Amino acid sequence: MTPNYEAVVGLEIHVQLNCETKMFCSCPNRPGDEPNRNVCPICLWLPGNLPRFSMEALEKATLACLALNCQIQKESAFDQKVYYYPDLPKGYQLSQFHRPLARNGWLDFARDDGTRQRIRIHKIHMEEDVARLVHEKEGRTTVSLVDFNRAGTPLVEIVTEPDMRGPADAMEFLRSLRIQLRYSECSQCSMEQGTMRVDANVSIRLRGSDALNAKVEIKNMNSIRHVGDAIAFEIDRQIACVKAGEPVITHTRLWDPDARITSPMRGKFDGPCVPDPSVPRILVEDEWLQGMIGRMPEMPGVKAERFMSRYQLTREEALQMSSERDVSRYFEDVLKQKAPARLAAQWIGTQLLPLLKEREETLENAALSPNRFAELLIMIEREEINANAARDVLRRLLESTASAGEIVEQCGYRQVSEAGELAALVDRVLAQNPSAVENFRKGVAKAMGFLMGQAMQASGGKANPRVLKDLMTEKLSSYST
Ligand SMILES: [Zn+2]
Repeated sequence: MTPNYEAVVGLEIHVQLNCETKMFCSCPNRPGDEPNRNVCPICLWLPGNLPRFSMEALEKATLACLALNCQIQKESAFDQKVYYYPDLPKGYQLSQFHRPLARNGWLDFARDDGTRQRIRIHKIHMEEDVARLVHEKEGRTTVSLVDFNRAGTPLVEIVTEPDMRGPADAMEFLRSLRIQLRYSECSQCSMEQGTMRVDANVSIRLRGSDALNAKVEIKNMNSIRHVGDAIAFEIDRQIACVKAGEPVITHTRLWDPDARITSPMRGKFDGPCVPDPSVPRILVEDEWLQGMIGRMPEMPGVKAERFMSRYQLTREEALQMSSERDVSRYFEDVLKQKAPARLAAQWIGTQLLPLLKEREETLENAALSPNRFAELLIMIEREEINANAARDVLRRLLESTASAGEIVEQCGYRQVSEAGELAALVDRVLAQNPSAVENFRKGVAKAMGFLMGQAMQASGGKANPRVLKDLMTEKLSSYST
């Protein structure tokens, strides 16, 4: 009998805080600028310069901790994490090892089967980033260059408990974490742009056991899908090891997204972590913390529940309207203009957002104010225009400053709902298509769709589809008797 294994997965997530400056100096926090532009003696780590801790880094880090339901520690401190590598010429990284900023958080996510799963956060600590190494060819010689723009930029590292049981858990947790952190506006959390980086610790055990066996750390993952793929690969690799009678050895591996495998990585020399004497201890006062709590917005989970109860959205609609802060804001602004809620959610989710994505625009920079969009929604609700025409009006709204009403008049989109007018049109279409009518009578289902299409075309796309269908059904039933 094959033993039944389960995976034990914990994550370490580095998140770059969107502060104006670096963590210990006033250089701009813009790692993507031309190399070595944003540097000074402090972040070049030249001897004899004292770090000056940034209050904004503490604020943004605290927002991240609050978004993940952590307990902010009254007192925390920086340590020197000692190792030597060309990306860290001063020989140590300032990081909170012994006394992190926050502990004991949690975050829930929904599994595919609808159950909610809680992942515990062990701790969140602040640290400075290291420099970036760039390996290039100069002629035939391989050279390694160092870019200090990233040196000293503010990070938090989020360490979870090993509460995930496989790739799907890790991926859902990361999606949920990203939504929470973006809401608190402490980071963009873009894995593509490197503002969120993930390491995973993976081990396996017999199902039902609560042992924590030797774990393997996988580094270098820059998309949520890669995290899932790498964990899945690693679980299979460890099961194969155990079945072959070989022990799983604790070490670090790298994920290669092209080859879709993990491979062993040469470890950096990890030295001790000793208390740093140059950065003062951080003492968090109650009053200051209350101020930070007051800065937290209504979080997406609470918001989604409110959208369901207050606006009668389905769960799916509510999740879509609440998962990004700018979308939720726009949705409620549109409702303030008296647009119907469910129609607004559906049109924002299925039409407006995909259209903006296609045009590479965002809700903030698109030229579509909530009241112009609301006017369109109200016209749809009143059946003054049909869905096809409305989609075209939406495109034109993004390209002009005209109102929805003006565009509808200009394009002659006003929907024909008047039954007398449509009845004459239906009669004409039925008379012109005797074979389709004959097919309908024989029970060919698609004949109805064909005749509807013909009638809609004859109306220039302006017929109210509901009224048209009622009339068509009525006329055809009289034909068939
Ligand atoms: Zn600097």
